[in-house]
Amino acid sequence: MSNSDIRVRIAPSPTGEPHVGTAYIALFNYLFAKKNGGTFILRIEDTDQTRSTREFEQKVLDALKWCGLEWAEGPDIGGPYGPYRQSDRKDIYRPFVDKILEAGHGFNCFCTPERLERMREEQRAAGKAPKYDGHCLNLAAEEVTSRIAAGEPHVVRMKVPTEGSCKFHDGVYGDVEIPWEAVDMQVLLKADGMPTYHMANVVDDHLMKITHVARGEEWLASVPKHILIYRYLGLEPPVFMHLSLMRNADKSKLSKRKNPTSISYYSALGYLPEALMNFLGLFFVQIAEGEELLSMDELAEKFDPENLSKAGAIFDIQKLDWLNGRWIREKLSQEEFMARVLNWASENERLTEGLKLAQSRISKLGELPSLGGFLLSSDVALSSASFAGLKTSAAETLEILTTVQTDLEKIHEWTVASIEEELRAISDRLGKKLRVVTPPLFVAMSGSSRSLPLFDSMALLGRSVVRQRLKTAATVVAAAVGSA
Ligand code: GLU
Repeated sequence: MSNSDIRVRIAPSPTGEPHVGTAYIALFNYLFAKKNGGTFILRIEDTDQTRSTREFEQKVLDALKWCGLEWAEGPDIGGPYGPYRQSDRKDIYRPFVDKILEAGHGFNCFCTPERLERMREEQRAAGKAPKYDGHCLNLAAEEVTSRIAAGEPHVVRMKVPTEGSCKFHDGVYGDVEIPWEAVDMQVLLKADGMPTYHMANVVDDHLMKITHVARGEEWLASVPKHILIYRYLGLEPPVFMHLSLMRNADKSKLSKRKNPTSISYYSALGYLPEALMNFLGLFFVQIAEGEELLSMDELAEKFDPENLSKAGAIFDIQKLDWLNGRWIREKLSQEEFMARVLNWASENERLTEGLKLAQSRISKLGELPSLGGFLLSSDVALSSASFAGLKTSAAETLEILTTVQTDLEKIHEWTVASIEEELRAISDRLGKKLRVVTPPLFVAMSGSSRSLPLFDSMALLGRSVVRQRLKTAATVVAAAVGSA
């Protein structure tokens, strides 16, 4: 294979705020392509129509662009193997599913969701891992035809060998063996005619000529299913590489409850994309101490996929801060620095919208920093004294902060209106007036009870910054409650 044939992809599902874990996997693929003179492409995997949205898709594209991870083919720019959004490829998958059915490697399954739930419950009660029990595996062909003709809802499942194991080589894990016993008869085509992730993923990697699949370790257990699909279709699987997940310092899985995980949090706080990529890229290179400051080109040059650790990449925020500071001080010229600051302040309209909100509330321009500075600062200084002037007791304040912290996650689209609506609903649930619930939030967001309108401020700060400020505020107040 000549190097230029190497094709890799990032295949995000647009079901939530773009995660640093996606940037981490995308960076690996990007560097892999760059190092080898290959092609890096972006494919949107939105087969889960209930959770995927166009808004999240746009956010993923924006976030990866902000990271500097440009793709050569993708839903926004097209390319020779498009379309690059799975929901636009719906008709492409059916012939592949039919081929599997015709060769006897798949079967139609009419089990209702209720039956499947009962089956899983019984399996769980018997201490077994839930798995399809093969109820529809051997239906007579005439029965299948007549039930389909009668319009009975059904899915297509894949058959799985009953004995032996699936052996494969992974670029990170080495030789892997998974018994077929542990592999479920995966649904390939859903009742609504949409393929599942597994089916669409394999077909698209094949049609898009992907040579290397590098993704998170959570997909390692799915490889036997994918290998079977390739085999059933008479296709050669790509090379697999499963990267260890990023972890918190305590080795737990990186989650937004412990560390902010959305890319927008880091851009909002003024991390430089170069520094974030430098930080993530260090997991993929072998360097000596003192060589940490690396540009994308330098990362690609030193990129070494042969020596990845299975132990997990620790998301050490202090190291990121250190690298970011070094990038600001050592890598940017004065002009670049100033341009970056202005760019950053106007991002997401924080500055312009913040100024509009402030105009009617000041008598001198010099009041602006103290009134609206919280919209731009990375955090606000909070102590128990910040909350002391409130009418609510510390215990009540804590209840408000923790409830809002949890319940704001329910908001799908983060807008002034949806924030207001949810805060009104939360007030009702707490049996409190909205004007009792909002003062602690003012303090949590801005560090002061005199500030800009709350709902607008929260919308401008963005979900991830709001989440982090509520968490900090709750910690401060909890300490006060604890010591009372
Ligand atoms: N859509 C999957 C995800 O969001 C992609 C997994 C893969 O790369 O195969 O993680």
